[in-house]
Amino acid sequence: MENILDCIIVGSGPSGFTAAIYAARADLKPELYTGLEPGGQLTTTTEVDNFPGYPNGITGPEMMMDLQKQAERFETKVHYEMITKAEFSLERGGIHKLWAGNKELFAKTVIISTGATAKYLGLEDEKKYSGGGVSACATCDGFFYRGKDVIVVGGGDTAAEEATYLSNICNKVTMLVRKDHFRASKAMEKRVENTPNIEVKYFHELVGIEGENSLVERAVVIDNRTQEKSTIDVHGIFIAIGHTPNTSIFEGQINLDDNGYIITEAKSTRTNIPGVFAAGDVQDHLYRQAITAAGSGCMAAMDAEKYLGELK
Ligand code: NDP
Repeated sequence: MENILDCIIVGSGPSGFTAAIYAARADLKPELYTGLEPGGQLTTTTEVDNFPGYPNGITGPEMMMDLQKQAERFETKVHYEMITKAEFSLERGGIHKLWAGNKELFAKTVIISTGATAKYLGLEDEKKYSGGGVSACATCDGFFYRGKDVIVVGGGDTAAEEATYLSNICNKVTMLVRKDHFRASKAMEKRVENTPNIEVKYFHELVGIEGENSLVERAVVIDNRTQEKSTIDVHGIFIAIGHTPNTSIFEGQINLDDNGYIITEAKSTRTNIPGVFAAGDVQDHLYRQAITAAGSGCMAAMDAEKYLGELK
């Protein structure tokens, strides 16, 4: 254990880099491990119009490069490597051990900001039309479909929320629910039912997408009772079938909720492990915005600094 760091940050989305900026400015000399997708989910989106400070909007990849540059300006060391294993100490003041492949790392604090990954259906067309009308985030991309017709796939709380959000912007929202009922809470289901421009198509699934120049023009859907195919004219398709928090390497090491999200103490980023903090989508299935992730990254660095200060 020759090199014990004050702070290791795992993940490189808005929460990870914001944690790095704050931790570096607090002289914790953080080292950040990017994971397989440096920049996180935002690198797969196009325009980001809702992050304060960019009056003309910015692309997701550009914003992430800016955040990285800002973190590096304060001498955060960025490693383009994946953390593959973790062994946390249960003792207050204990040393946590991480692995990046065969490389062993030791730190007094760890900030987990590994994010969550939106689930997709696995259709080839989802990839083909990604950025051309297929999205997994209505708050991020709904604006582009103002006055147009869109589809939301899924019947859970996320889908119901996305559909009601889009109903305020779009002309018509068609929800495709594969069973004869919602999985969403009754309250959310009622909200959907009471929204005149949302049509729910039960027993329907998305099986293809059509359109010129990789821009969505039609959804190909199937009635799974009869296998009958039909098309719906739309410009946007929102896949809202859930997210998978990227916590598999922390299973058994840290308290996770039933859906695999890291549990943090209210109004903090503290986990059940002393010295281990969680920020961003990996601990938040509700808000999932770049700005809320960045905010919790800031909190995590401040929580880590406070923890280290109390050990002295
Ligand atoms: P859920 O897992 O709850 O729901 C996923 C939905 O997508 C289900 O209707 C499911 O159908 C459907 N689905 C899954 N796979 C496919 C597929 N291949 N094809 C078609 N449909 C599919 O995910 P959510 O993201 O909605 O919610 C996750 C958690 O977050 C839940 O606990 C939820 O309550 C919570 N949440 C709470 C909110 C709030 O309180 N405001 C807001 C958002 C989320 P099926 O039912 O047939 O499996």
